[in-house]
Amino acid sequence: MARYIFITGGVVSSLGKGLMAASLGALLQARGYKVRIRKFDPYLNVDPGTMSPYQHGEVYVTDDGAETDLDLGHYERFTGVSARQSDNITSGRVYRDIIAKERRGDYLGATVQVIPHVTDAIKEFALADQGDHDFILCEIGGTVGDIESLPFMEAIRQLRNELEPNQTLSVHVTLVPYIAAAGELKTKPTQHSVRELASLGIKPDVLLCRAEHPLPDGERQKIANFCNVRKQAVIPALDASSIYAVPVQYHKEGLDTEVLRGFGITDAPEPDLARWNDVLDRYENPEGEVTIGVVGKYVGLQDAYKSLNEALVHGGMANRVKVNIRWIDAEIFEQDEGDIASALEPLHGILVPGGFGERGSEGKIASVRFARERKVPFFGICLGMQMACIEGARTAGFDAASSTEFGETSEPVVGIIEEWMTAEGLETREAGGDLGGTMRLGAYDAKLAGNSHVSQIYDGASMISERHRHRYEVNSAYIEPLEKQGLVFSGMSPDGLLPEIVERPDHPWFVGVQFHPELKSKPFDPHPLFAGFIEAALEQSRLV
Ligand code: GLN
Repeated sequence: MARYIFITGGVVSSLGKGLMAASLGALLQARGYKVRIRKFDPYLNVDPGTMSPYQHGEVYVTDDGAETDLDLGHYERFTGVSARQSDNITSGRVYRDIIAKERRGDYLGATVQVIPHVTDAIKEFALADQGDHDFILCEIGGTVGDIESLPFMEAIRQLRNELEPNQTLSVHVTLVPYIAAAGELKTKPTQHSVRELASLGIKPDVLLCRAEHPLPDGERQKIANFCNVRKQAVIPALDASSIYAVPVQYHKEGLDTEVLRGFGITDAPEPDLARWNDVLDRYENPEGEVTIGVVGKYVGLQDAYKSLNEALVHGGMANRVKVNIRWIDAEIFEQDEGDIASALEPLHGILVPGGFGERGSEGKIASVRFARERKVPFFGICLGMQMACIEGARTAGFDAASSTEFGETSEPVVGIIEEWMTAEGLETREAGGDLGGTMRLGAYDAKLAGNSHVSQIYDGASMISERHRHRYEVNSAYIEPLEKQGLVFSGMSPDGLLPEIVERPDHPWFVGVQFHPELKSKPFDPHPLFAGFIEAALEQSRLV
């Protein structure tokens, strides 16, 4: 029987509920329990796939091809449990399914209503796919009091009655602000938030109080009294030195102990935190540092490249170095050529990340060229690999080389699969059930060439599986001229038709990948491509 932990937020948004859920999951896991974490998003988009990265941060893609909220990335990085489509639901998806059923006549003429139809669908989602999990953590997006989250709160309230008495627990994350002028911590916002939650029929069992200043005993007792929880269940959650310090810190404050107690479990094994202590040690005690430039488009908002940012840090942990990331707007290189060298020269590694659209593409191509000519470690991811191929083609004499994503071109080095694949190739792929034209999403295999640089990086593997999110592919008609120019296609789709990885043997470290390796990197298990890239950057730092 899976136990359910419902996590809600109060007072303000941006309290780090996702990180808190991920940390609680990691702590329960460290005690030997099997966990899964789910996200309920109250907005009306069916999924975040079409939302701007500026608004919503990155879209996190799962193995099974779902485009999900970036919090699922936190969950996966902290627990190592692969997220699935069935771990993220939005109001949009609930309503879409209900309306489709209504149009089909499945409701047999009944009036379709928020209660019970929407709430039933939410409950069904929460209860689906329980497997042999000990705990399923459900994070509700937004803040208590939001109109759009009401059906989710109602579904939780009902579930708390329908499941066994010791099978559910409510954790409420709040803020205890510090008023500098008065020199005081204020508990009133927490009291109001708990009252709001109680008015929806949900009494929290554990309060996680985010604060910038230590919570004195008296304030803790006051919150306990006014919010109707025991004092030990008021957990102070002070700002941590880094996200990697959060699980251990929350454990010290008693979060997991109190959660287990709420379920009546008092004999759980102590958590094995060795993994987290090691991660923290590597992060907090680096033996050197490197500076990596990320030449992209959404550089104004770091959440837009959340997993990438994390994977670079993990690569640093693998090498025990601090990674300084310089976010560079590719467009600035299009305005003044002279800027390129001064911006890129101080870097020990250049990374061109995934992206969509033409804006900044010439700046990205110029960055590839700089990295290639100056022999600076280069890592191209998705769009970054496509730019590396276009740069190679232009160097090979195809001056018009481009991607059809940017408009019509006489040299479609990158294009939609039907635009460049032969009829025979298309037939083969259609028989295999994979035709382009829409996004290629989720995990796909790639075959690595023996004795290539990447097969070494992947520890001698001949087949790998990585996650994709793109519509365009490198046109295999250009493989031959590109190989003559020095690029090696060292990873291909298993049928040999789609380029997956390119590298340059005459360069210290030059790798382009059509997939997103950053989505699978974890602090305790850094992705080999990022570990290798940072290692190369470290060597570069010794040269300059
Ligand atoms: N825009 C490119 C494509 O759709 C690359 C996508 C990406 O980098 N994720 O193929």
